[in-house]
Amino acid sequence: MRYGILSDVHGNLPALQSVLKTCAKIKVDKLLFLGDAVGYGANPNQCASLIREEAAAFLAGNHDLGAVGMTNIRNFNPYALEALAWTARTLTPDNAHYLKERPMTVEIDDIFLVHASPCQPAEWHYIFHHQEASLNFSAFSQQVCFIGHSHLPCVFILYPDGSISLERAASLVLHDNARYIINVGSVGQPRDGDPRASLGVLDTDNGKYYLHRTIYEIKDAQASILCMGLPRFLAERLAIGR
Ligand code: ZN
Repeated sequence: MRYGILSDVHGNLPALQSVLKTCAKIKVDKLLFLGDAVGYGANPNQCASLIREEAAAFLAGNHDLGAVGMTNIRNFNPYALEALAWTARTLTPDNAHYLKERPMTVEIDDIFLVHASPCQPAEWHYIFHHQEASLNFSAFSQQVCFIGHSHLPCVFILYPDGSISLERAASLVLHDNARYIINVGSVGQPRDGDPRASLGVLDTDNGKYYLHRTIYEIKDAQASILCMGLPRFLAERLAIGR
């Protein structure tokens, strides 16, 4: 089975369409979405609807729940808040209702999925360092957990001796006796300096995971953001992937 794992689309329709095209090309069997369909970008409804149609799992992200008044947004920066208020006004009642009902965690085919962190998923903690990863490995029982939220792709590996390593390699072979927390990066607003949309691919037939980056029409996403009167900064950052 080949899984395509997406996160943090953030209303960026050109990026989402490009990633879905890649999924078709590389023959992804099942699409898993880790949350934040909306927020920042200019196409929240189109993105939410498209992911609803395509994905076998659709988790809650902090922007998704923030847009429908279901989570605390006091930590949002001013740009995020402005975009969130616009998103809240723009969402159709049907999509708003759908976002309200998204689960915080999903267990599917013995894979654990969460937007931010397995430990206290509703607190939206980031997993940047070994100590945070260490705490979180004990909060799920599966071998692999996929996360998003930071928009920074990386892999934490827990070895049988209890040691943890942080890998930024674009591909790896999963070993039976190790466990993994894998951040798949962001489709719609990458922040690792690479502006291409990010997609995680897990192939359970050969035990391999890799990160696929796809180009998309950044200019189209930027034009839509400006056209909707959203902050210019949100358009500009797409070009530099920060
Ligand atoms: Zn996000």
